[in-house]
This record gives sequence, C-alpha cells and structure tokens, in this order.
Amino acid sequence: MQTISKASCAMASFPCSRVKSGLCIWPSMRQVCLRKGLPYGLFRFLSFPFRTLWGASRSLKVTQFCSVTSSSSSLQIELVPCLKDNYAYLLYDVDTGTVGVVDPSESRPVIDALSRKNRNLTYILNTHHHYDHTGGNLELKARYGAKVIGSMKDKDRIPGIDIALNDGDKWMFAGHEVLVIDTPGHTRGHISFHFPGSGAMFTGDTLFSLSCGKLFEGTPQEMLSSLERIMSLPDDTNIYCGHEYTLSNSKFALSIEPNNEALQSYAVQVAHLRSKSLPTIPTTLKREKACNPFLRTLSPEIRQSLGIAAAADEAEALRVIRQAKDDF
Ligand SMILES: [Zn+2]
Repeated sequence: MQTISKASCAMASFPCSRVKSGLCIWPSMRQVCLRKGLPYGLFRFLSFPFRTLWGASRSLKVTQFCSVTSSSSSLQIELVPCLKDNYAYLLYDVDTGTVGVVDPSESRPVIDALSRKNRNLTYILNTHHHYDHTGGNLELKARYGAKVIGSMKDKDRIPGIDIALNDGDKWMFAGHEVLVIDTPGHTRGHISFHFPGSGAMFTGDTLFSLSCGKLFEGTPQEMLSSLERIMSLPDDTNIYCGHEYTLSNSKFALSIEPNNEALQSYAVQVAHLRSKSLPTIPTTLKREKACNPFLRTLSPEIRQSLGIAAAADEAEALRVIRQAKDDF
C-alpha cells in the first residue's frame, strides 16, 4: 500500500483519447464538463452553449447532450446510477484520457459506462468504506488494474486500497489538484474529495442535497464540524453526493421550515426533475446553504418547529434535526 504525502502526481498510463470539437451525444447519463483552473465567471461564459444545449436536452427528454471541445485541460464528470439510489461518478481528463471513478457501489454499471466509450480505468476513489460505495472495488481493480484510493483511517476497511490519504493531502488526478478533507460523522474515516480547479466536491454520505448522512460512527459535533468545512468552500462549488435522496429530503426540510422560499422553489424543481427520472445532482453549495436544514442550524423557524431552544448550540440543534429526520 502506498502512503501519499502532501503532493504526488499520477499520469495516465495509456494514450490520450482524442475528442473532437462540437456536439456529441452520450449514450447515457448526465455529463458535466469542467475546466482545470478556469475562473468561474469565464467558465460560465464559455459554457453557455453547453448549458443551452443541456437545457434543450431536458425539454427534449434527452439527458445525454454534451458539447465537448478539443481544448486542453478539461475534466468531465459523468453520473452513473448504481443500486437503488446510489451514484458513482466517472472522472475523465480529456487531455490524457485518464479515468477515475468515485464510489463504485457495484461494478456492472461502471463497466458498461466505460465500455460504451472504450475507456480504461486508472483510479477508484472511495469516500468511505460502506459496501454501497466500495462494492465494485475488487472487480474493477482486477479487470482494469485500477488503483484504489481512500482514507488512511479506513485502510483496513476499504477493499483493495492501494493509496491511503490523510486530511490535507493534495493528490493529483491527471493534472487536476485534489484536496482531501476529513469529514467524519457518518463514519469515522469518511473523507471528501475537492477538485478546486473544477469547482467540484465529492461528499459521499456526509452532505446530501437537503440533508446529511446518518451518524453511524460520529457525534453531532463531528458532523457539524465536517459540514462547516464543506461550507467554507466557494458558494459556486458543485456538490456530488453519494445518493439520490433529494425528493424525500425536500419533504422533511419543508416540514420544519415551510416558509423558506428558496426551499419551496427548489422542492418544486426537485419534484419536476424526479418525475422525469432526471438526477438532482450536482447541487451547489450556495443552494444547500439556503435550503438544507443541516446547514441551517441557526434558523429560527427550524428551531421553533423542533422545539430547539434559542440558546442551544449548533451541535445540539443538529442532533435534534438529525433525530427528527431519522423519525420522519
Ligand atoms: Zn455510507
């Protein structure tokens, strides 16, 4: 097993895949194109045609439109639905052809997604050890020779782990900086992967859209601290979480903060997306701060709904909100 220090660099071991300019239609799943280190405003401007196509694709009920350019330094993120409500995420660096997958709960959907594009797999990234995030590790590793990456704290619980990372480590995915952030609470070894150049954060079962993970191995204070670390990232960070729970989460969130207008409108959007079997992920940190009750432990309306004293600290408020969610 390899232990990573503050910086290491891994390059693709196979030739670059050529991607032509213009429009392509992906055979399945929603696709997001990001650029390494591109300022967000410029990215939004440059991505306007893509976003227009994506909007059009929704109205056409085609979820696989994507405009891909041949310019350098591009990271693509593809959702791969797994099991009942899990998401794995394929990471594809256009420059080098390097491919990674985050939290493959099972191998088959990942193999199918890779096979459709005739791609190899170099890395498997795990946010935590639960089987519905690591269940595909060993088969994918055996098939592709991929390296498994996870938390040093979970080196004995993550199947096939090769590279163990610690809080604060900087790891490189084909030239994209990846920051490792300890986010315990759901499990004690849970980590999140932040790609600052792409504005992407993989939060596993720590932060969901409109909720957080159950506290299996951690305290409310640990979860609060983990969520606060995530909240310290830029508001336009895209959040890629481990499950499609957003619709049911929206019902709980509305039940304890019914007058939150941002939440009301997001809940309508979520219901619309899910009625068409479209993903609600990624969400953004800005939206979660406005709508997610676990990031809103100071909300007077939430506190009043759940009988949390105004003087109670945020960890106590989170504990009560989590308990109410568990009982909902
Ligand atoms: Zn989990």
